Amino acid sequence: MTELVVRERVPLAPLTTLGVGGQARWFVEARDEASVVAAHAWARARGVSLRVLGGGSNVVVADAGVEALVVQLALRGIDAHAADGGVSVTVAAGEPWDALVQATIEQDWAGLECLSGIPGLVGATPIQNVGAYGQEVSDTVSAVRVLDTESGAVTMLPAAACGFGYRDSAFKRDAPGRWIVLAVTYRLIPGGPPTVGYADVDRHLARQGTGAPTLRDVRRAVLAIRRGKSMVLDDPSDPNRRSCGSFFLNPILEADAAATVTARAGDITMPRWPQADGRVKLSAAWLIEHAGFARGERAGPVGLSTRHTLAIVAHDGARTADVLAFARRIQDGVEGRFGVRLTPEPVLWGHA
Ligand SMILES: Cc1cc2nc3c(=O)[nH]c(=O)nc-3n(C[C@H](O)[C@H](O)[C@H](O)COP(=O)(O)OP(=O)(O)OC[C@H]3O[C@@H](n4cnc5c(N)ncnc54)[C@H](O)[C@@H]3O)c2cc1C
Repeated sequence: MTELVVRERVPLAPLTTLGVGGQARWFVEARDEASVVAAHAWARARGVSLRVLGGGSNVVVADAGVEALVVQLALRGIDAHAADGGVSVTVAAGEPWDALVQATIEQDWAGLECLSGIPGLVGATPIQNVGAYGQEVSDTVSAVRVLDTESGAVTMLPAAACGFGYRDSAFKRDAPGRWIVLAVTYRLIPGGPPTVGYADVDRHLARQGTGAPTLRDVRRAVLAIRRGKSMVLDDPSDPNRRSCGSFFLNPILEADAAATVTARAGDITMPRWPQADGRVKLSAAWLIEHAGFARGERAGPVGLSTRHTLAIVAHDGARTADVLAFARRIQDGVEGRFGVRLTPEPVLWGHA
Protein backbone atom coordinates (compact mmCIF):
# COMPACT_ATOMS: atom_id res chain seq x y z
CA MET A 1 0.00 0.00 0.00
CA THR A 2 1.46 3.35 -1.04
CA GLU A 3 1.86 5.87 1.79
CA LEU A 4 0.83 9.24 0.40
CA VAL A 5 2.38 12.36 1.94
CA VAL A 6 -0.11 15.15 1.26
CA ARG A 7 1.15 18.61 2.17
CA GLU A 8 -1.11 21.63 2.52
CA ARG A 9 -0.83 25.18 1.19
CA VAL A 10 2.36 24.71 -0.79
CA PRO A 11 3.60 27.80 -2.71
CA LEU A 12 3.65 27.08 -6.43
CA ALA A 13 5.53 30.17 -7.66
CA PRO A 14 8.98 28.63 -6.93
CA LEU A 15 7.91 25.53 -8.88
CA THR A 16 7.17 27.50 -12.06
CA THR A 17 9.52 29.28 -14.44
CA LEU A 18 7.38 32.43 -14.40
CA GLY A 19 7.68 32.50 -10.61
CA VAL A 20 4.30 34.05 -9.83
CA GLY A 21 1.02 32.81 -8.36
CA GLY A 22 -0.34 31.41 -5.13
CA GLN A 23 -0.47 28.09 -3.32
CA ALA A 24 -1.67 24.58 -4.00
CA ARG A 25 -4.34 23.78 -1.42
CA TRP A 26 -2.93 20.22 -1.34
CA PHE A 27 0.32 18.96 -2.84
CA VAL A 28 1.93 15.57 -3.41
CA GLU A 29 5.17 14.56 -5.05
CA ALA A 30 4.69 11.26 -6.89
CA ARG A 31 7.82 9.22 -7.45
CA ASP A 32 6.14 6.10 -8.84
CA GLU A 33 2.98 5.08 -10.65
CA ALA A 34 1.42 3.69 -7.48
CA SER A 35 1.68 7.16 -5.88
CA VAL A 36 -0.03 8.75 -8.88
CA VAL A 37 -2.85 6.20 -8.65
CA ALA A 38 -3.09 6.77 -4.88
CA ALA A 39 -3.16 10.57 -5.35
CA HIS A 40 -5.96 10.20 -7.86
CA ALA A 41 -7.91 8.01 -5.40
CA TRP A 42 -7.25 10.55 -2.59
CA ALA A 43 -8.65 13.40 -4.65
CA ARG A 44 -11.61 11.41 -5.91
CA ALA A 45 -12.57 10.26 -2.38
CA ARG A 46 -12.68 13.89 -1.24
CA GLY A 47 -14.30 15.35 -4.35
CA VAL A 48 -11.19 17.47 -4.90
CA SER A 49 -9.92 18.30 -8.38
CA LEU A 50 -6.45 17.15 -9.37
CA ARG A 51 -3.78 18.97 -11.35
CA VAL A 52 -0.51 17.62 -12.63
CA LEU A 53 2.66 19.66 -12.42
CA GLY A 54 5.79 18.89 -14.38
CA GLY A 55 8.58 21.44 -14.57
CA GLY A 56 6.15 24.37 -14.32
CA SER A 57 7.41 25.96 -17.56
CA ASN A 58 4.02 26.25 -19.22
CA VAL A 59 1.61 27.12 -16.41
CA VAL A 60 0.40 30.44 -15.02
CA VAL A 61 -0.94 29.99 -11.50
CA ALA A 62 -3.57 32.47 -10.23
CA ASP A 63 -2.53 34.74 -7.37
CA ALA A 64 -5.26 33.11 -5.27
CA GLY A 65 -3.69 29.71 -5.91
CA VAL A 66 -5.51 26.52 -6.84
CA GLU A 67 -8.13 24.73 -4.78
CA ALA A 68 -6.91 21.33 -5.93
CA LEU A 69 -4.51 18.51 -5.20
CA VAL A 70 -1.42 19.32 -7.24
CA VAL A 71 0.57 16.21 -8.08
CA GLN A 72 4.14 16.89 -9.05
CA LEU A 73 5.35 14.06 -11.24
CA ALA A 74 8.79 12.79 -10.26
CA LEU A 75 8.73 9.34 -11.90
CA ARG A 76 12.14 8.46 -13.31
CA GLY A 77 13.54 5.80 -15.64
CA ILE A 78 14.49 5.25 -19.28
CA ASP A 79 14.25 1.99 -21.19
CA ALA A 80 15.45 1.55 -24.77
CA HIS A 81 15.30 -1.41 -27.14
CA ALA A 82 15.69 -2.00 -30.86
CA ALA A 83 12.41 -2.12 -32.78
CA ASP A 84 11.55 -2.09 -36.51
CA GLY A 85 14.87 -0.66 -37.67
CA GLY A 86 14.71 2.04 -35.03
CA VAL A 87 15.03 2.29 -31.30
CA SER A 88 12.02 2.48 -29.05
CA VAL A 89 12.77 4.66 -26.03
CA THR A 90 10.27 4.63 -23.17
CA VAL A 91 10.81 7.44 -20.71
CA ALA A 92 9.10 8.07 -17.37
CA ALA A 93 7.13 11.32 -17.14
CA GLY A 94 9.40 12.92 -14.54
CA GLU A 95 12.62 12.71 -16.55
CA PRO A 96 13.98 16.18 -17.46
CA TRP A 97 13.37 16.74 -21.15
CA ASP A 98 16.64 18.30 -22.24
CA ALA A 99 18.75 15.69 -20.45
CA LEU A 100 16.86 13.08 -22.47
CA VAL A 101 17.53 14.94 -25.72
CA GLN A 102 21.21 15.17 -24.88
CA ALA A 103 21.38 11.45 -24.00
CA THR A 104 19.73 10.43 -27.29
CA ILE A 105 22.19 12.55 -29.25
CA GLU A 106 25.12 10.97 -27.40
CA GLN A 107 23.73 7.60 -28.55
CA ASP A 108 23.52 9.01 -32.12
CA TRP A 109 19.74 8.51 -32.21
CA ALA A 110 17.99 10.99 -34.51
CA GLY A 111 14.57 12.49 -33.87
CA LEU A 112 14.75 14.92 -30.95
CA GLU A 113 17.77 17.08 -31.85
CA CYS A 114 15.83 20.24 -32.82
CA LEU A 115 13.95 20.08 -29.50
CA SER A 116 17.15 20.79 -27.57
CA GLY A 117 16.99 23.28 -24.72
CA ILE A 118 13.22 23.20 -24.08
CA PRO A 119 12.58 23.29 -20.32
CA GLY A 120 10.24 20.95 -18.49
CA LEU A 121 9.72 17.24 -18.10
CA VAL A 122 9.03 14.40 -20.51
CA GLY A 123 5.42 13.85 -19.38
CA ALA A 124 4.35 17.30 -20.58
CA THR A 125 5.77 16.93 -24.09
CA PRO A 126 2.71 15.22 -25.61
CA ILE A 127 0.31 17.64 -23.89
CA GLN A 128 0.98 20.57 -26.22
CA ASN A 129 2.93 18.52 -28.78
CA VAL A 130 6.13 20.36 -27.94
CA GLY A 131 7.88 21.67 -31.02
CA ALA A 132 10.67 23.91 -32.24
CA TYR A 133 12.96 24.48 -35.22
CA GLY A 134 11.19 22.06 -37.56
CA GLN A 135 10.43 19.16 -35.21
CA GLU A 136 7.50 18.27 -32.96
CA VAL A 137 7.34 15.35 -30.54
CA SER A 138 4.44 13.99 -32.62
CA ASP A 139 7.10 13.14 -35.26
CA THR A 140 8.54 10.52 -32.90
CA VAL A 141 5.98 9.67 -30.19
CA SER A 142 4.73 6.11 -30.78
CA ALA A 143 2.73 5.61 -27.58
CA VAL A 144 1.83 7.33 -24.34
CA ARG A 145 1.22 5.47 -21.07
CA VAL A 146 -1.53 7.19 -19.13
CA LEU A 147 -3.70 6.99 -16.07
CA ASP A 148 -7.24 7.65 -17.26
CA THR A 149 -8.74 9.58 -14.37
CA GLU A 150 -12.27 8.79 -15.59
CA SER A 151 -11.93 5.01 -15.42
CA GLY A 152 -8.99 4.82 -13.02
CA ALA A 153 -7.22 2.47 -15.48
CA VAL A 154 -3.62 2.66 -16.62
CA THR A 155 -3.49 2.20 -20.41
CA MET A 156 -1.28 2.73 -23.45
CA LEU A 157 -2.53 5.19 -26.04
CA PRO A 158 -1.05 4.77 -29.54
CA ALA A 159 0.10 8.00 -31.20
CA ALA A 160 -2.97 7.92 -33.48
CA ALA A 161 -5.20 8.31 -30.40
CA CYS A 162 -3.33 11.41 -29.18
CA GLY A 163 -4.88 13.82 -31.73
CA PHE A 164 -1.68 15.80 -32.19
CA GLY A 165 -1.83 19.22 -33.87
CA TYR A 166 0.15 22.46 -33.76
CA ARG A 167 0.93 22.93 -30.00
CA ASP A 168 -2.12 20.79 -29.40
CA SER A 169 -3.29 17.29 -28.62
CA ALA A 170 -6.34 15.39 -27.43
CA PHE A 171 -4.85 15.69 -23.92
CA LYS A 172 -5.03 19.48 -24.09
CA ARG A 173 -8.02 19.98 -26.40
CA ASP A 174 -10.58 17.22 -25.90
CA ALA A 175 -10.47 16.46 -22.20
CA PRO A 176 -7.98 18.59 -20.30
CA GLY A 177 -6.90 16.85 -17.11
CA ARG A 178 -8.46 13.49 -18.00
CA TRP A 179 -5.20 11.71 -18.74
CA ILE A 180 -2.13 11.77 -16.54
CA VAL A 181 0.90 10.92 -18.64
CA LEU A 182 3.05 8.35 -16.84
CA ALA A 183 5.55 7.60 -19.61
CA VAL A 184 6.15 8.40 -23.26
CA THR A 185 7.61 6.11 -25.95
CA TYR A 186 9.57 7.78 -28.75
CA ARG A 187 10.75 5.98 -31.89
CA LEU A 188 14.19 7.26 -32.84
CA ILE A 189 16.55 6.35 -35.68
CA PRO A 190 20.08 5.15 -34.77
CA GLY A 191 22.59 6.87 -37.05
CA GLY A 192 19.78 8.80 -38.75
CA PRO A 193 20.38 12.22 -40.29
CA PRO A 194 19.42 15.31 -38.30
CA THR A 195 16.34 17.30 -39.25
CA VAL A 196 17.47 20.42 -41.08
CA GLY A 197 15.71 22.92 -43.31
CA TYR A 198 14.58 25.42 -40.69
CA ALA A 199 15.87 28.81 -41.86
CA ASP A 200 17.42 30.03 -38.57
CA VAL A 201 19.22 26.73 -38.01
CA ASP A 202 20.43 26.49 -41.61
CA ARG A 203 21.77 30.05 -41.47
CA HIS A 204 23.57 29.35 -38.19
CA LEU A 205 25.13 26.15 -39.56
CA ALA A 206 26.18 27.94 -42.76
CA ARG A 207 27.84 30.71 -40.72
CA GLN A 208 29.76 28.03 -38.83
CA GLY A 209 30.80 26.50 -42.16
CA THR A 210 29.08 23.21 -41.25
CA GLY A 211 28.29 21.51 -44.57
CA ALA A 212 26.93 18.12 -43.51
CA PRO A 213 25.67 18.67 -39.97
CA THR A 214 25.60 15.89 -37.40
CA LEU A 215 23.01 15.54 -34.66
CA ARG A 216 25.49 17.23 -32.30
CA ASP A 217 25.96 20.15 -34.72
CA VAL A 218 22.20 20.69 -34.88
CA ARG A 219 21.86 20.52 -31.09
CA ARG A 220 24.69 23.06 -30.69
CA ALA A 221 23.10 25.35 -33.30
CA VAL A 222 19.66 25.16 -31.71
CA LEU A 223 21.07 25.84 -28.23
CA ALA A 224 23.05 28.83 -29.52
CA ILE A 225 20.00 30.29 -31.28
CA ARG A 226 17.82 29.70 -28.22
CA ARG A 227 20.39 31.29 -25.87
CA GLY A 228 20.34 34.39 -28.09
CA LYS A 229 16.60 34.63 -27.37
CA SER A 230 16.84 33.80 -23.62
CA MET A 231 15.02 30.56 -24.41
CA VAL A 232 17.41 28.31 -22.45
CA LEU A 233 17.04 28.55 -18.69
CA ASP A 234 20.66 28.03 -17.68
CA ASP A 235 21.68 31.59 -16.80
CA PRO A 236 20.38 32.74 -13.39
CA SER A 237 21.57 36.29 -14.12
CA ASP A 238 19.52 36.60 -17.34
CA PRO A 239 16.92 39.37 -16.75
CA ASN A 240 14.62 37.63 -19.25
CA ARG A 241 14.69 34.23 -17.55
CA ARG A 242 11.31 34.34 -15.75
CA SER A 243 8.87 33.45 -18.52
CA CYS A 244 6.78 30.63 -19.96
CA GLY A 245 8.64 30.88 -23.25
CA SER A 246 6.21 31.97 -25.97
CA PHE A 247 3.13 33.40 -24.30
CA PHE A 248 1.01 33.34 -27.48
CA LEU A 249 0.37 30.77 -30.20
CA ASN A 250 0.90 31.63 -33.84
CA PRO A 251 -2.68 32.10 -35.13
CA ILE A 252 -3.85 29.67 -37.81
CA LEU A 253 -6.68 31.21 -39.83
CA GLU A 254 -8.95 30.25 -42.71
CA ALA A 255 -7.49 31.54 -45.99
CA ASP A 256 -10.03 34.38 -46.36
CA ALA A 257 -9.50 35.55 -42.76
CA ALA A 258 -5.72 35.50 -43.34
CA ALA A 259 -6.23 37.54 -46.53
CA THR A 260 -8.17 40.12 -44.51
CA VAL A 261 -5.29 40.39 -42.02
CA THR A 262 -2.84 40.77 -44.90
CA ALA A 263 -4.96 43.57 -46.35
CA ARG A 264 -5.17 45.31 -42.96
CA ALA A 265 -1.41 44.96 -42.55
CA GLY A 266 -0.81 46.49 -45.98
CA ASP A 267 2.64 44.91 -45.91
CA ILE A 268 3.62 42.19 -48.35
CA THR A 269 6.50 41.13 -46.10
CA MET A 270 4.07 39.88 -43.42
CA PRO A 271 5.03 36.22 -42.73
CA ARG A 272 2.38 33.71 -43.87
CA TRP A 273 2.81 29.95 -43.78
CA PRO A 274 0.19 28.04 -45.83
CA GLN A 275 -0.88 24.81 -44.07
CA ALA A 276 -1.72 21.48 -45.67
CA ASP A 277 -5.43 21.94 -44.86
CA GLY A 278 -5.66 25.26 -46.74
CA ARG A 279 -5.47 27.43 -43.64
CA VAL A 280 -2.67 29.92 -43.12
CA LYS A 281 -0.40 30.29 -40.08
CA LEU A 282 0.63 33.83 -39.16
CA SER A 283 3.46 35.02 -36.94
CA ALA A 284 2.23 36.16 -33.52
CA ALA A 285 5.58 37.94 -32.97
CA TRP A 286 5.20 39.93 -36.20
CA LEU A 287 1.63 40.90 -35.34
CA ILE A 288 2.65 42.02 -31.84
CA GLU A 289 5.56 44.10 -33.13
CA HIS A 290 3.45 45.68 -35.87
CA ALA A 291 0.69 46.47 -33.40
CA GLY A 292 3.20 48.76 -31.71
CA PHE A 293 4.75 46.62 -28.96
CA ALA A 294 8.53 46.59 -28.82
CA ARG A 295 10.85 44.08 -27.22
CA GLY A 296 11.68 45.13 -23.68
CA GLU A 297 8.48 47.18 -23.35
CA ARG A 298 7.44 47.25 -19.68
CA ALA A 299 4.24 47.71 -17.72
CA GLY A 300 5.51 48.01 -14.15
CA PRO A 301 6.93 44.66 -13.00
CA VAL A 302 6.17 42.77 -16.24
CA GLY A 303 7.15 43.27 -19.84
CA LEU A 304 8.19 41.72 -23.11
CA SER A 305 11.54 39.98 -23.16
CA THR A 306 14.27 42.19 -24.56
CA ARG A 307 15.27 39.27 -26.81
CA HIS A 308 12.02 37.57 -27.79
CA THR A 309 8.77 39.35 -28.65
CA LEU A 310 6.57 36.41 -27.68
CA ALA A 311 7.89 36.01 -24.14
CA ILE A 312 6.23 37.88 -21.29
CA VAL A 313 8.73 38.26 -18.47
CA ALA A 314 7.90 38.63 -14.76
CA HIS A 315 10.30 40.90 -12.89
CA ASP A 316 10.69 41.45 -9.14
CA GLY A 317 7.37 42.21 -7.48
CA ALA A 318 5.25 40.88 -10.35
CA ARG A 319 1.97 39.16 -9.62
CA THR A 320 -0.03 36.91 -11.91
CA ALA A 321 -2.62 39.70 -12.27
CA ASP A 322 0.11 41.93 -13.75
CA VAL A 323 1.13 39.24 -16.24
CA LEU A 324 -2.45 38.64 -17.36
CA ALA A 325 -3.27 42.37 -17.61
CA PHE A 326 -0.20 42.86 -19.80
CA ALA A 327 -1.15 39.83 -21.92
CA ARG A 328 -4.65 41.28 -22.38
CA ARG A 329 -3.16 44.63 -23.43
CA ILE A 330 -1.22 42.85 -26.14
CA GLN A 331 -4.25 40.82 -27.23
CA ASP A 332 -6.37 44.00 -27.40
CA GLY A 333 -3.65 45.87 -29.32
CA VAL A 334 -3.23 43.10 -31.89
CA GLU A 335 -6.99 42.63 -32.25
CA GLY A 336 -7.54 46.37 -32.68
CA ARG A 337 -4.87 46.61 -35.37
CA PHE A 338 -5.38 43.31 -37.25
CA GLY A 339 -8.71 41.83 -36.10
CA VAL A 340 -7.05 38.68 -34.72
CA ARG A 341 -7.25 37.73 -31.04
CA LEU A 342 -4.09 35.92 -29.94
CA THR A 343 -4.51 32.77 -27.84
CA PRO A 344 -2.23 32.22 -24.85
CA GLU A 345 0.00 29.16 -25.08
CA PRO A 346 0.49 28.40 -21.35
CA VAL A 347 -2.18 26.72 -19.29
CA LEU A 348 -3.91 29.06 -16.82
CA TRP A 349 -4.47 27.49 -13.39
CA GLY A 350 -7.11 28.72 -10.94
CA HIS A 351 -8.45 31.52 -13.15
CA ALA A 352 -12.16 32.15 -13.39
C1 LIG B 1 12.21 29.51 -21.77
C2 LIG B 1 11.15 28.61 -22.31
C3 LIG B 1 11.23 28.14 -23.61
C4 LIG B 1 10.25 27.29 -24.11
N1 LIG B 1 10.36 26.85 -25.40
C5 LIG B 1 9.42 26.03 -25.91
C6 LIG B 1 9.53 25.56 -27.26
O1 LIG B 1 10.47 25.87 -27.97
N2 LIG B 1 8.56 24.75 -27.74
C7 LIG B 1 7.49 24.36 -26.96
O2 LIG B 1 6.65 23.61 -27.46
N3 LIG B 1 7.37 24.78 -25.69
C8 LIG B 1 8.31 25.59 -25.15
N4 LIG B 1 8.18 26.04 -23.87
C9 LIG B 1 7.00 25.65 -23.07
C10 LIG B 1 7.26 24.46 -22.12
O3 LIG B 1 8.61 24.33 -21.80
C11 LIG B 1 6.77 23.14 -22.69
O4 LIG B 1 5.39 23.22 -22.95
C12 LIG B 1 7.04 21.98 -21.75
O5 LIG B 1 6.70 20.76 -22.37
C13 LIG B 1 6.26 22.09 -20.44
O6 LIG B 1 6.77 21.09 -19.58
P1 LIG B 1 6.60 21.17 -18.03
O7 LIG B 1 7.05 19.86 -17.48
O8 LIG B 1 7.27 22.36 -17.49
O9 LIG B 1 5.02 21.28 -17.91
P2 LIG B 1 4.16 22.13 -16.86
O10 LIG B 1 4.35 23.57 -17.11
O11 LIG B 1 4.41 21.63 -15.48
O12 LIG B 1 2.68 21.71 -17.30
C14 LIG B 1 2.13 22.20 -18.50
C15 LIG B 1 0.75 21.58 -18.70
O13 LIG B 1 0.90 20.19 -18.95
C16 LIG B 1 0.24 19.44 -17.94
N5 LIG B 1 1.11 18.31 -17.60
C17 LIG B 1 2.42 18.36 -17.27
N6 LIG B 1 2.89 17.11 -17.07
C18 LIG B 1 1.84 16.28 -17.28
C19 LIG B 1 1.68 14.86 -17.22
N7 LIG B 1 2.69 14.05 -16.92
N8 LIG B 1 0.45 14.35 -17.47
C20 LIG B 1 -0.61 15.16 -17.77
N9 LIG B 1 -0.51 16.50 -17.85
C21 LIG B 1 0.70 17.04 -17.61
C22 LIG B 1 0.05 20.37 -16.76
O14 LIG B 1 -1.07 19.98 -15.96
C23 LIG B 1 -0.15 21.69 -17.47
O15 LIG B 1 -1.49 21.77 -17.91
C24 LIG B 1 9.15 26.91 -23.31
C25 LIG B 1 9.07 27.38 -21.99
C26 LIG B 1 10.05 28.23 -21.50
C27 LIG B 1 9.96 28.71 -20.07
